[in-house]
Formats: sequence, structure tokens, C-alpha cells
Amino acid sequence: MAEDLTPPGALPDGARDALDPAGRADELREQIRHHNRLYYEQDAPSIPDADYDLLVRELQAIEAAHPDLITPDSPTQQVGGAAVTTFAPVTHAVPMMSLDNAMDVDELQAWGARVRKGLGVDDATPVGYVCELKIDGLAISIRYEGGRLVQAATRGNGRVGEDVTPNVATIGVVPDRLTASSAIAVPDVLEVRGEVYLPIAEFDAINAAQAAAGLPSYANPRNTAAGSLRQKDAAVTASRRLAFWSYQLGEVVGGPTFATHHESLELLGALGLPVNPEVQVLATLDEVYAYCRHWQEHRHDLGYEIDGVVVKLDDLARRAELGTTSKAPRWAIAYKFPPEERTTKLHRIEVSIGRTGRATPFAVLEPVFVGGSTVQLATLHNQDQVAAKDVRPGDTVIVRKAGDVIPEVVGPVLEARPKGLRRWRFPTDCPVCGTPLVRPEGEADHRCPNLACPARVGGAIDHFVSRGAMDIEGFGEQRVHLFLQLGLLHDVADVFHLDEAALRGIDGFGDTSIANLLGAIEASKQRPLANLLVGLNIRHLGGATAEAIAEHFGHMDALLDATVDELAAVDGIGPTIAASVHAWFADPEHRALIAKLRDAGVNMAGPERPDTDAVPQTLEGRSVVVSGTLAGYSRDEAEAVIKAHGGKSPGSVSARTTALVVGDAPGASKVAKAEQLGIPVLDEAGFERLLATGELP
Ligand code: NAD
Repeated sequence: MAEDLTPPGALPDGARDALDPAGRADELREQIRHHNRLYYEQDAPSIPDADYDLLVRELQAIEAAHPDLITPDSPTQQVGGAAVTTFAPVTHAVPMMSLDNAMDVDELQAWGARVRKGLGVDDATPVGYVCELKIDGLAISIRYEGGRLVQAATRGNGRVGEDVTPNVATIGVVPDRLTASSAIAVPDVLEVRGEVYLPIAEFDAINAAQAAAGLPSYANPRNTAAGSLRQKDAAVTASRRLAFWSYQLGEVVGGPTFATHHESLELLGALGLPVNPEVQVLATLDEVYAYCRHWQEHRHDLGYEIDGVVVKLDDLARRAELGTTSKAPRWAIAYKFPPEERTTKLHRIEVSIGRTGRATPFAVLEPVFVGGSTVQLATLHNQDQVAAKDVRPGDTVIVRKAGDVIPEVVGPVLEARPKGLRRWRFPTDCPVCGTPLVRPEGEADHRCPNLACPARVGGAIDHFVSRGAMDIEGFGEQRVHLFLQLGLLHDVADVFHLDEAALRGIDGFGDTSIANLLGAIEASKQRPLANLLVGLNIRHLGGATAEAIAEHFGHMDALLDATVDELAAVDGIGPTIAASVHAWFADPEHRALIAKLRDAGVNMAGPERPDTDAVPQTLEGRSVVVSGTLAGYSRDEAEAVIKAHGGKSPGSVSARTTALVVGDAPGASKVAKAEQLGIPVLDEAGFERLLATGELP
């Protein structure tokens, strides 16, 4: 049992806080103010938003339990940022507020109930909502007088912001002049509020340029957007290609009047201001929650970052009735997505050896719930990444898990680093077989060069039997490792030498499981050549490229003696893959392995050449991108049918795309790109017409 180091009579932290709520509230206020300064003034927060939100929530809970402890200057009562820094002050005619937030459906419903109570309406009376994406950037107020942009200011403390007019004027999508038309009178004064943000593609480009110049990379698009906008030299802002979505009116004098929020957004759009295309007017809170869930799942389909959904009452008279608190409107709520970044303790750094011998450092963490699951291991990529991030065992680190991407360590929280932590050193020897690791000149990765390293052999066999390769059902990682330990497997071809005699007597193997496994192994011998090629673990060769090679050469025999030039002539195969495949087949050990597989009865032939007469080649030389869910085709089926008609189906829209086919919930960035490039956007019926006739509308 761990030794209890609490001095006699002392109380554990939680109990002390409960006895001294005033002390804890002071402590929290100090911490929150510190993080506010880093976030709003320096654009360089040291902790993830979710950790910050926990501090605020703890303070709110203490203040709710002890209302006498609420001070007017508590961060729970004020809008976040500093009043003025080095920029000239701008007093907002209409304050710029923060938003209350809901972390789950219960909190969303509690807000809905508060709204109904405030309005005095029962459950049967409809309350209309507008749902908008919560863009992760920084709020800006832009003022137009007589239709001309005259001033732009940050939110600051909500009443006074910073004058960033020259900077905002550099943003391409922000018009200098509002669009006048006979249908709409341009208001004499129009303040538009919205979010300045950095598109992810721009953020990646900026970081690529930083890396090329040997400079450190930026942490995330939000802070980079804020830092880029709050520049003394507007030329720096101009170089960053920021963007903007409008979502709210500030002061308005003259012009049309309207009764709802969505009409005000329509006006903004008509005046030439960018309004996000995903805004939706919804009738019930159930629909609102469905919208929230949809975007929680699809947040990474967008070309910019969002951290939630903002739900607003649509009826402006009802909004006025509800009013605001000192900090936030009562008529809106931010539904926040579960965090993708959290802090946790880094216990150790270990190195794993993959099937190609690649040595990958990874962090062993105190388990933390992030990105929808509990994370205990996170990749650190390679030696240079560990050095650049300077994460040390014992550090508190930020862990990120976004979408399907594997969890990674973003960096340490330096403020929390205990004294005396040592830098971590990359091991010199393979942790599995003890062979000295090598790092080839010009490469980022270390490798274990020992082909017989158990980690390499095990990884290679795991990969060989996996779904994308030979797809042997019931042959999981655990069985691979068991058979390795028992000395039944030494290379991938040994899989086909497993027989009843070898399996009989192994714990857990009865008649049925033996028959099932041997049946699955036998069936896998008939997999197409492309699956075998994927299973062989040839560097740089993936599913699509293996298929292209199998289709082109038709048989292993043709491939065994193909030259680099012949390989590079295959559609979709570049010089790197061609060289890698050629080198692999030139190795006598690999040729022996192929012979062993052939002797075991493994299929060596490619697919039958498709009968192109049967399917009209309506898409010959054309490329069709599919986005969203189609009713009649899975993603793979859509791709296959395009190929069968002679076309290609790349993952992204470019100037060479023939058409974009959209199903349910398509990627907004793909649609926007297609529209921008004037590429036809087809629904499923249009897609079928295209397949049948090759005609575009
Ligand atoms: P908020 O960010 O939760 O909500 C208000 C803001 O949402 C608005 O000011 C606006 O900028 C933005 N927004 C985006 N899309 C919008 C839309 N469609 N309609 C209206 N507003 C929209 O609240 P806040 O007070 O601005 O900031 C608090 C948040 O900032 C925290 O919850 C945290 O996420 C972050 N923060 C982090 C740290 C840190 O140290 N990591 C420190 C301070 C604040």
C-alpha cells in the first residue's frame, strides 16, 4: 500500500477545499485570470480549453453554493479578455458578450426549460431556434457606415475592445463596401459580429513553411488566427489568409427591419458578408440536439475548426424579453463538443518496434478521457519530435485525440514541470532483441535492422493475416503471438504450414476452433494477388497501389522480373514505390519466401481483366469525387462502379474533377471547392445518369 504522507491532523485537498470555499474560490479566480491573460492577451494558452472549462465550472459551483462569495470582478461575472492592450481602445455601442455553455444533452434541455420559464410558455408552444456552428476563432465586430468599412474591433472585455481595423481590412472575404441593390436599403450604420478564423489548409501551409525554415510549428488554428490578427504590422496579417463568418448584428441604424435572427443573417448575406452555409432554423430541441450530434460526428469534415454548436432563439422580441446576464445572453447557449485535448501525467516513454523494424517512441500516460475514449498510450512519432516537443517523463502533457487519428502528445505544460526533470534519451538498442538501432541518413526514423527480431516477425505476420491483406478470419494478434512463442511461425509462409497436429493440444483449441482456423487459412489461399502484395509488407505499397500493380502485371511471375521503369509505368505508381517494390523482389530471401508461398498453394494470379464491353466506358479518363452517404452505394461500391465505367474516384476535388457527387451530409469544404471551381455537383440520380450516358447536366 502507498505510504500516507499526510501529516497528522492535516486534511486531504478536497476536504480542505470544502471547509474553505472562500480560499478555494480565490485560488481558482487567480488561476483563471492567469489563463485568461495567456489566452486573450498573448494568444498562447498553456492548457487545453477543457481543462480551463473545469476550473471555471468548479468556481461556478462554489459560487452557486455560496452566493455571498460572488464578487463583481469574478471571472464568472465578466467577459474574458483584457480591456485594452497595445491597440487603441474601441467602445462597443452594443456589448460583445460571452456564451453560457452546455456540456451534454441534459444541460441543453435545462437551458431549454429556463428559456420556456423565462418566456412563460408551456411545452406545447413552439419556440424556434437557429443552430450555428461554433467556429473556433476570435470574435470581431466590424462597423460599416454608409456601406463602407470604417472600424473593426476585438471583443476585449466586452465593453471595450482593441482597434484592429487595418488588420481586418486585409481579410479577403470581408468586403470594404457592402453590396447595394435595389431590393435592400443599406443601413446607415451596420455593425456585424462574427468569427475570424484560420482555415485548416492555411494553418497547415503556415506550419509547413515554419518547418521548412527550421522554425517551431504553431499549436493550433485558433491561437494562430488570434496571433495573426492582433499584429501591429497589418502586412503580417495579410500574409496569413484569415477568413470570417458573420453571425450576429451589433448596432444598426436605418435599413430594413425584421423579426427573426435568421432574417438578419439573410440580410448580412445579401449585403455581401459571408454567412456560414450550415446555419439551420429548427423547431424543436430534439432537432437541435440531432444537429449537435451530427456536427459532433462530422466536425472534421469541415475545412475549419469548430468546438461546438451555438443555439440561439430565432424570435428577436423573445430575445429582448429574456435579456442577458452580466456576461452572456439568456437566449443563447453554446453546446460544447467533448474535448479533443486534455492534460495528463506522462509516466514513461517507451519504444515499440513495428513490422518494418521502425522504432516509434510512445508515451505511457495516466489514463485520460479524451476524444471519446480513454487514452493511456499516445504516439510521439520519432526522436526529433520528442526533442522538439521536449516532453520528459514526469511532465504534465497535453494529449490530443481528434476523429480517427491516433492519440498524440502535443507538448508539455511547462508551468507544471517539476524541478529537475531530465530530458529523455532515445535508446541505442532495440528494446526487443537488443540489436543496435540504426537511423539511416536523411530519415526521421530509427529502425531495428534485425530481420529475425521477434517484434518485426510478429508485426509482419499480424499484418499478413489482417483484413486488408490475406484476411484470415479468427487469426488475431493474440494467436499470432501464441504461435510465435510456441515456435510454430517464423515467417508469413509458415501460416500455411499450420496443421491439425500442430494445433492439437494447445490450450483453447478444440475440434471446432481447429477446423475453423484451418478452414479460414485454406480459404485465404484464393485471395487475389493484390491482397498477397499488401500482406508482404513492401514499404510504401498500400491497398490501391497494390491493386494497380496486380491489375497491370496480372501474375506474380511477371512482377518478379519487372524493372523499375516497367513498374513506374503503371498508372498511379511513382518512382519511390517503383524503386521500393523492385528492391523488395530483388532480395533473394524474399524470392525464396514467394516460392514457399507458391508451394503452399497460395494464388499468384491477378484479377481477371474486366470485360469492358459489358460496361459502357462512360467515364473513360474522367474523375468523379463522391462525398456523403449515398442511398444505393457504399463508399467502396461507388468507387468500384466509377472504376468499372473507366473513371477514377480520388478523395478530393481539384480543377481536373469532372463532377462531385453528393449524398447525405457531404463534406462542406468539398462542396465549396466544387462551387468555387465551377464543377458540377450531382445528386444520386444525376450520378446514375452520368454512369449510364456520360452526360453532365
Ligand atoms: P465561448 O468561446 O465559449 O463563447 C463565446 C464566443 O463564441 C464568442 O465570443 C464568439 O467568439 C464565439 N462564437 C463562435 N461561433 C459563434 C456563433 N455562431 N455565434 C456566436 N458566437 C460564436 O466563451 P468565451 O467567453 O469567449 O471564452 C471562453 C472559452 O475560451 C473557454 O470555454 C475556453 O474554451 C476558451 N479559453 C481557454 C483558455 C485556456 O487557457 N485554454 C483561457 C480562456 C478561454
